[in-house]
Amino acid sequence: MKIAVPRETKADEPRIPLIPGDVGKLVKMGADVVIESGLGATVGIADSAYTDAGATVAADYAGVLSGADMVLRLNAPTSDEIADLGEGVIHVSHLDPFFNQPLVEQLAGRGVKTVCMELIPRTTLAQKMDALSSQASLGGYAAVVLAADRLDKGFPMMMTPAGTLSPSRVFIVGAGVAGLQAIATAKRMGARVEAFDTRPVVEEQVKSLGAKFVKIDIGDTGQTEGGYAKQLTPEQIAMQQKGMAKICAQSDVIVSTAKVFGRKPPLIITEEMVAGMKPGSVIVDMAASEHGGNVAGTQVNQEVVTGNGVCIIGYDNLPGHVAMHASQMYSSNLMNFIQHFWNEETKALELNTEDEIMAGSLVTNDGAITSDMLQKAYASA
Ligand code: NAD
Repeated sequence: MKIAVPRETKADEPRIPLIPGDVGKLVKMGADVVIESGLGATVGIADSAYTDAGATVAADYAGVLSGADMVLRLNAPTSDEIADLGEGVIHVSHLDPFFNQPLVEQLAGRGVKTVCMELIPRTTLAQKMDALSSQASLGGYAAVVLAADRLDKGFPMMMTPAGTLSPSRVFIVGAGVAGLQAIATAKRMGARVEAFDTRPVVEEQVKSLGAKFVKIDIGDTGQTEGGYAKQLTPEQIAMQQKGMAKICAQSDVIVSTAKVFGRKPPLIITEEMVAGMKPGSVIVDMAASEHGGNVAGTQVNQEVVTGNGVCIIGYDNLPGHVAMHASQMYSSNLMNFIQHFWNEETKALELNTEDEIMAGSLVTNDGAITSDMLQKAYASA
């Protein structure tokens, strides 16, 4: 099987999909790996590291795709890039599928067999392939490091001959994968950390990291079978905002990670709540993207300072701030996926849809959209 790895073409993307260590493993398994020249440049990996691991190097996108059976990428391909994919090729990448219906339809129409990394089920077995988790965790870390840098205070309590500095107060909104890593990072740095999530099961996890769980009664919330938050009603959001306003006002840093799978993120922190914060405070809106964010006033990929001196940071690629580790983790997620479906005899990936991981993540096959979840989402859009 020939596995092709083109360069990432998305603007400002420093992460890469495959590192040389994993190329070596694929070659040992019997695959032919071809990379596009410059694949690792953004993280300081030379083409020679890939050839040393057993890959060949193609000069451009057309060259890397030539004769490919499978394409590995980090970000979704563009419409032009899909047009160049051969019929029947397996394509593995993120797709942002709920917001990219035309792209998914184009992949189906082109006869591509598309594996969507976001739809790998969140099961124990698939944990090692779970790119949403690996990237969110590094993003949570990067968000806190960034906030600490922008804040004009230190995080820990410091007792000095000149006096005592009290610890900074960090409030994490949404304690999923990113939020829990943000809590752990802020705790390690010595901050006083509080967190809130609509899923009550999270309370124990927050406490186990040494943070305080903020209790706000917003009625029945629960979670989906997949462990995701359910969408709140406008009344529940209003109750949450009321309960959070005082904590926001007292916080030096807010890291907001609240998302609802397959939907736009909820707007939780209003202009009024931001206006109630102290000058010099920092908010990192980890939900920021072209689809919206958790904070009024967030601008995607910008740092905005409000009239009252609050800095709102809206970078949509925080894992990219630790690009080497993020690439290493993503590459490992891909490797674990491939190893799980590798047929030792044919030396090729088997699209076994009897397996729940493949059934969940294979979104187009034989000219059609094969994901029930996406079909439902597109029908109700
Ligand atoms: P996510 O990115 O969809 O959401 C981030 C967090 O925001 C979630 O904790 C969610 O509850 C919270 N949230 C949503 N609306 C909110 C609101 N209005 N206010 C405050 N918080 C709000 O979620 P995620 O981090 O990808 O994962 C969520 C959960 O999925 C995990 O905590 C876990 O239970 C489960 N999970 C399981 C596995 C596994 O078993 N392999 C792997 C990863 C995640």
